[in-house]
Amino acid sequence: MTPPPIPFFDRTRGDLAMQDELVAAFQEVVRSGQYILGPEVEAFEAACAAYLGVRHAIGVSSGTDALLVALMALGVGAGDEVVCPAYTFFATAGAIHRTGARPVFADVLPGSLNLDPASMARAITARTRAIVAVHLFGDCAPMDEILAIADARGLPVIEDAAQAFGAEHAGRRAGALGRMGCFSFFPTKNLGGFGDGGLVTTDRDDLAERARALRAQGARRKHHHTLVGGNFRLDALQAALLRRKLPRLGACLAQRRRHAEQYAALLGRAELPLSLPGAGSAGHTFNQYVIRLKDASLRDPLRSFLAARGIGTEVYYPAPLHLQPCFASLGPPAGALPVAEAAARETLALPIYPELTSEEVTRVADAVVSFFVGPRG
Ligand SMILES: *Cc1c(COP(=O)(O)O)cnc(C)c1O
Repeated sequence: MTPPPIPFFDRTRGDLAMQDELVAAFQEVVRSGQYILGPEVEAFEAACAAYLGVRHAIGVSSGTDALLVALMALGVGAGDEVVCPAYTFFATAGAIHRTGARPVFADVLPGSLNLDPASMARAITARTRAIVAVHLFGDCAPMDEILAIADARGLPVIEDAAQAFGAEHAGRRAGALGRMGCFSFFPTKNLGGFGDGGLVTTDRDDLAERARALRAQGARRKHHHTLVGGNFRLDALQAALLRRKLPRLGACLAQRRRHAEQYAALLGRAELPLSLPGAGSAGHTFNQYVIRLKDASLRDPLRSFLAARGIGTEVYYPAPLHLQPCFASLGPPAGALPVAEAAARETLALPIYPELTSEEVTRVADAVVSFFVGPRG
């Protein structure tokens, strides 16, 4: 008898368990007749600000738009450079490019695959206007070193915390560490919505005010445009549903950490030719559990081996951003950012969503072990 498949990701498990609450929230919004911004969005923003420990949280249309709004609020534009890691989701650099600024790619650290502060420092020039640090896979970038370098040069740091809602660094939450924070509520993220949504955070009143204006066409009052913004507003329905999920986030993150510990115990024991994520990173939220194969040529065969056993995996990310066709002309050339380039060949993400059972985690780990050492006798 073949065991049931283990999908890489399954939102229905958690959502169906709280279906009644979600339906009630939906009905409240329909009764209110207010579908964009308004009291539901304000209530959700206040709940996020309290949870994250920031003065301001501004709901926007996606994580991508959160980055765009944050960059625009900081005045980043044509002629500017913004340093960001080469190994991240496309939107980090795409948003920089859309402001008219140039993304300047830095390498990442071999362990966490987060922005390498030394490589970042080397990428800074007289044109640099800001740094975007990504909290990759739910683990905070080395913010102490990044902020020390940025502060010394008077550069603001934007946190791309799209994968890191609830992550912690030195007793503070992601989104409260840099000048501005950007979150995504894409369904796979730690706080996953029911469509697209995002959030911008900041402690600075002036930046919050600009971000609020920018998300609504740059109008500070109706039909009076002091800035050119866009339509980056959050829907009331998203806010209402997300606000009902927020109280469960702590339990969900605890489950993700439990699964990560179990993977580490099962995969670490076997002395496999793998690097495992997250060792020594207490605030890690494991939005993704990404292993690295010491022999990159085994990554795709392992993926197929697991797929044949009904186990879903993903590759985050198969190419670093400086080698994406749309950015290749910006440089640097292939070979210049070796850690990012190697990571793109070696990484494989295993299932880690909160509602996985420990039996499923064991099955995934056993399958990985058996790929290397053959089935257990
Ligand atoms: C998901 C993600 C984004 C974009 O968020 P969307 O809501 O999908 O627009 C940006 N940066 C990183 C690192 C992400 O993982």
